[in-house]
Amino acid sequence: EADEARASILQRKPLDLNRISPQQQERLCQVFGATLSPREAVQRILGSVQEGGDDALLDWTKRLDGVEFSAAAALSVQDAELEQALVTLEKTQPALYHALELAARRIAVYHESQPLNSWFTTKLGGHMGQMLRPLDSVGFYVPGGNAPLPSTALMTMIPAIVAGCRRFVVTSPPSRESGDISPVTLAACAICKRMLKEQIRDLGVDQNITSAFQVFRLGGAQAIGAMAYGTQTVPRVDKIVGPGNLYVTLAKREVYGVCDIDGIYGPTEAIVIADASARAELVAADLLAQAEHDEAAVPILLTPSRPFAEKVREALSRQLQALPSAAAAQRALHALQHQGGLVVADSLESCAELCSAFAAEHVSLSVSQPWELLPRIRHAGGIFVGETSGEVLGDYIAGPSHVMPTGGSARYASPINVLDFIKITSVIALDVSTARKVAAAAEKIASAERLDAHAAAAQQRVHMSE
Ligand code: NAD
Repeated sequence: EADEARASILQRKPLDLNRISPQQQERLCQVFGATLSPREAVQRILGSVQEGGDDALLDWTKRLDGVEFSAAAALSVQDAELEQALVTLEKTQPALYHALELAARRIAVYHESQPLNSWFTTKLGGHMGQMLRPLDSVGFYVPGGNAPLPSTALMTMIPAIVAGCRRFVVTSPPSRESGDISPVTLAACAICKRMLKEQIRDLGVDQNITSAFQVFRLGGAQAIGAMAYGTQTVPRVDKIVGPGNLYVTLAKREVYGVCDIDGIYGPTEAIVIADASARAELVAADLLAQAEHDEAAVPILLTPSRPFAEKVREALSRQLQALPSAAAAQRALHALQHQGGLVVADSLESCAELCSAFAAEHVSLSVSQPWELLPRIRHAGGIFVGETSGEVLGDYIAGPSHVMPTGGSARYASPINVLDFIKITSVIALDVSTARKVAAAAEKIASAERLDAHAAAAQQRVHMSE
């Protein structure tokens, strides 16, 4: 049993962006009047946005989101509407308002602590170094098809504010019922906008906040197309970040190269490594918290203790029954049965080895000596050290961004952080004597590459005067 689970962990497949349910296939057929793959559907949407601009945005918003706007200006959320959403939240749900404010402050402090330095060395003659500069404009996709995700707005935008970006274009789908972005997502956007405004004021930068931070009622592939190509109403950006459903993800992959993207995010993954000292109820709750996201979520317990695995199994069935939403319980059960599982390994060391091989988005160390186990986890998006640091706290409030690499991409990718919004420019300032010394070597290499003009330009520097 353990061997089977071990094998299935080690043979995990990369993210499959072609797998869709029969219901999704039927929906594609209804919308497009033909049998299309999701990728073809997305290419069609992107092509029409590139050609048709605002008209295409209005058309897709009507067809896919069921919301009819009379003119493109209505896609744009006005400053006053954004501010009003925050004021209303403070009045009607003060606890939620303060929770979002606290989360925003903690995310800002965490990212402000990230070391970032331009640097120069004199070791190579003259001054050689790197200059860090923020991206000019960034597009943020804040998902909202099934549920509002204000936390994602904070977790993606605040690192960019800290980086010093100066143009924010935010898109989030309008709800079929209200025709608007969820009020709580708007309130989270307003918190980010205030933060940006304060930063602009503190730095004394001459910039108009209305054009620096724009929000649009746009979802899906059409939102990604709008931000990548630009339309009459939506400005084009240098990079698009944020998670989303299959169509959003495929669209980001398609526009990569027109602009940059942060990554390709699949269903959430959580591995809990626990020993007999852990509390089974807590471990089960953490596994369920991830499992309820999505039927394709991956919740796994790795433990060296069979009796503990049994306790977690019992706790899971108790807690599953108590979940208030039947739909969430259904999703969780599916995820636990199909992608998840309780795996008993020989030792904590082999748990760590399996965990590293999986390269999960989230790893929780619910063991008596978590700091000792930490160095053994080679690949993970985020590691939650000890039972106190429940992953759910990382999802909302701890500080690091909750947008983390999935599908094994933690082997080479990182969670969203300030560096996602910074680029490096190399600076080369050779002094004359070094330039003279190295020019001959440059000439030799250029000649070997049969680039005669390069060789000549290098040659001219060999005898250059002061
Ligand atoms: P969404 O905003 O990503 O997508 C909604 C949009 O999808 C709609 O506006 C519509 O335009 C488009 N769409 C729907 N059906 C379509 C069809 N048949 N053809 C073309 N376009 C279609 O919202 P969602 O659907 O609720 O998905 C949110 C996703 O974000 C989830 O998969 C969730 O797991 C993920 N998420 C991930 C993280 C993370 O950090 N990895 C965080 C939050 C959310």
